[in-house]
Order: sequence, then C-alpha cells, then structure tokens
Amino acid sequence: MITLKDPSLLKQQAYVNGQWIDALNGETNPVLNPATGEQIATVPDLGVEETEAAIAAAEVAFKSWKKKTAKERSVLLRKWFELIVANKDDLAILMTAEQGKPIAESAGEVVYGASFIEWYAEEGKRAYGDVIPSHAVDKRIIVTKEPIGVTAAITPWNFPNAMITRKCAPALAVGCTMIIKPAEDTPLSALALMELADRAGIPAGVISVVTTKRPIEVGKTLTDSPIVRKLSFTGSTPVGKQLMRQCADTVKKTSMELGGNAPLIIFDDADLDKAIPAAIASKYRNSGQTCVCANRLLIQSGIYEEFAQRYAAEVAKLEVGNCSEGEFQQGPLINRAALDKVAMMVDDAVAKGARVIAGGKPHELGGNFFEPTIVADITNDMRLAREEIFGPVAPLFRFETEEEAVQIANDTEFGLAAYFFTRDYARVFRVSEALEYGMVAVNDGILSTEVAPFGGVKESGTGREGSKYGMDDYLEIKYTLVGGL
Ligand code: ADP
Repeated sequence: MITLKDPSLLKQQAYVNGQWIDALNGETNPVLNPATGEQIATVPDLGVEETEAAIAAAEVAFKSWKKKTAKERSVLLRKWFELIVANKDDLAILMTAEQGKPIAESAGEVVYGASFIEWYAEEGKRAYGDVIPSHAVDKRIIVTKEPIGVTAAITPWNFPNAMITRKCAPALAVGCTMIIKPAEDTPLSALALMELADRAGIPAGVISVVTTKRPIEVGKTLTDSPIVRKLSFTGSTPVGKQLMRQCADTVKKTSMELGGNAPLIIFDDADLDKAIPAAIASKYRNSGQTCVCANRLLIQSGIYEEFAQRYAAEVAKLEVGNCSEGEFQQGPLINRAALDKVAMMVDDAVAKGARVIAGGKPHELGGNFFEPTIVADITNDMRLAREEIFGPVAPLFRFETEEEAVQIANDTEFGLAAYFFTRDYARVFRVSEALEYGMVAVNDGILSTEVAPFGGVKESGTGREGSKYGMDDYLEIKYTLVGGL
C-alpha cells in the first residue's frame, strides 16, 4: 500500500496527448515493490498503435510549442518545477515504493530532477546564434539555433525521476516535444511527473509517457519513425548500441548515456578522513546501482591495509532494510536477476583468489537484499574488474605507482566517471588529464549537478546532459545566407 498526501499522484494509466489512457488491448503490467515483492499498482501495456498516436500528437504539438517564445515556455516549466518541489514528499514515497532506495535518496533525487527543469527554464532563453563576418560585401551570414523537433527518451529504473527530467527539460525549453518510455520497473515516478506537467499547463502532446512491458516493440516504433528526429537513451551499453543501429536508418541524432566502470583511486598521500566517506557515498549510494558508482577501488600499497580496515568498519555501519518502512542506508536491488548477477560476480572473484572482507552474500532479509560487500585483492581477470557491478560490492585493487593506477583505470572500454584522492597538486593535473573519462572528480565522490555536463567517452556514450552543453543536444544549427544586398 502506498499512502500519499495527494493520492491523485498515483497514476495507473499512461499519459498520451494530454489524456490518461489504457492500453487498446486492455492489458496491464504489475508494478512491484522490490523490497517486498508486493504489487503496488498496475500500468497499461501500450504497444505500437498507442506509440504511433503519441508520436502523431508530438508532431502536432511541436508546431505550436516551437512558436512560443522561450519565455512563454519558461513560465510553464517554472510552474512544473514548483509543483514537483511542492509534492516532493509524495514523489519520494512513490519512488521508494517502486525502486527501493532510501527515502532520503528519493527525496534528493526529486529535488535533483526538478533542478534540471528550473535550470533549463532559464537557459532556454539563451539559445543564441551568431552573425558571422561575411566572405562577400553583398552577403550576410546568420546562424540560428532551432529545436530538433519531435524527440524520444528511453530511461532506466535506477533514477526513475531525474533520468527523465534531464532529457525533457532541455528538450522542452528549446521547443522540442518528447515521448518518454520509462523503465518497466519504475513507471509510477514518470506518470506522477506527467500529472504535475498537466497541472502546470504544459499543452497536450508536448510530453507523453508510454508505459509498456514490450520495450523492443515500442522502442522500434520510436526509432523507425521518420517523425522522431532524436533519441536520448540512458541504460546499458548493449541496448544503447542496438538503438544506435536502429536510429541509423532514419539518420536520427542520438544521445547515449551508457554503462560505466568507474575507477576510484586513492593515493598514499590522500586524506583518508575525507576519502573514506566519499568512497562510501560513491560506491553504496542507491545500493551501488548507478552508472557513476565507483566500480573499482584502486588503493596504493602504502595505505592499502589501513584503508581496507577502515572502509570495512564504515561499511559495517550501513543498515539494510525496506526503505518504505524505516530509515536505512541500503535498500534492495531492483529485482532477482540483479541479485543473482551480483552474487555470481562475487563468487567468481572468490574462486579466482579474492578475499571477502565485508558481506559477500545475499542478505538474511531474503528477497532482493544483498549485504554491503568488500572484496579485496582483485585482479583483472575477475568479472568484478571488467563488468559494471550495479550492486553494493566494492572490489579493492592494490597498485604501486601512479602510472600503474592510470593504466589500470583506463584499461576498460568504458569512460564515464573517474575519481581520485591525493594532496599533491601537480598530480591533480597529471592524473585528471591522463584519465580517459568524460567526468573526473578530484577529492570528491559525487559529481552530478544540473549545472555541469554529465556524459561519457568511449563506449559510455555520446552527448551531454545538464549545463549549457546539454541544450546543444536538442538544437540544430541553421545557416542562412542573405545575398543580393
Ligand atoms: P538495465 O540493465 O539498467 O535495465 P536496459 O538498457 O536494459 O538497462 O534498460 C534501460 C531502458 O531501455 C529501459 O527503459 C528498458 O525498457 C529499455 N530497453 C531495453 N531493451 C530495449 C530495446 N531493445 N529497445 C528499446 N528499449 C529497450
């Protein structure tokens, strides 16, 4: 049971063209609380036809939405932002119920998610162009920025709110319209956002949410459509690659926020009093289920044992439980498959000689809960070293030199976030420049904010979300030549 101050935020219908709709075939999908397995709601199982209707509505809405002034759009987005903040507590309860994360983290995500709407409501007014000095006296060169058009977003379950607002806020601010397909596990946060967008007065068709348990079918409808001019995806690298292939046929623009394999490097000269809490936050936030979570902890040999001991003492303090019912630092994993994968990765490391120094197995609470875990003495042949863990498991590597640390850190096909801790200012520059990552945090474990560009290099993706750079992902450049002057 979900108890909200405003029960009308619990929506069990999809939102298409400003209407709350059921599936044409009448089918629904259950939404489960991952902490208990209990069904908390159902949402419609939309398919091709309803997705096509959402695309058609977005195409119609685009014609008038793009003609509004940036300020007119900004006023509506600002209202939406204020409604989200005013309903923060209910949105957090909904999120924890469907996703499992601690209430404080859910509330934090709601505020973080809303911050993108606030920020782009302002920045949308600054989609400036250029007047370029001409190559001929009788000609003028004008460059303007135009909204790309109808866009689509496919989003994951780990941040059910913010992964949506990061995409739709810049899109809507500059005049694009958007169809969103949220993750099957977490549609309720997306639908609650739509209820608030509706109350804010965002016109029908400007933004729609298509719920489904047929992501391949709905995804293909979006990528095959010549009307959809851009796809923004956050999720796993294999699905991202598949969607890029699908987008090739209509030469769509894409933004891809894909997997990571973040190194967190602690040098001998680091301030451990600061590095340890930062490494806890970076690893165990959202039970380790974020694409920028520290995935590999690289510890220089002079402090390796001390770090391991002190880190284990902090990990032992993390309380695990059902976050809908109490204050815990660790919720469940999203589903059984996630739990099994994490357990198999730990077993693989142990079989190859690694040492478990905290946790190491499914939690005695049962269900989808896993113990906050540290595995020491990791080597590069272990799955924990090569794959995105997406769970509360910290693998510790030992290294000797700075060169070795950088080499290990870069030895991956991914390039999203990297972290390192040192008090040597020259090393700050040397290492941050040597790391092949889209984002580097020095002496900090958290780097997401709406004012900075979030995104990766290599197989972690393309494009940026947040900041003035994030707006470019939804704009086309038009060059106009005025001749005969
Ligand atoms: P995760 O492993 O985090 O669940 P996925 O990449 O599988 O990551 O899922 C992220 C999003 O992509 C979800 O909304 C999911 O429904 C969607 N998705 C998964 N496979 C496809 C596909 N083949 N086509 C379109 N969307 C997909």
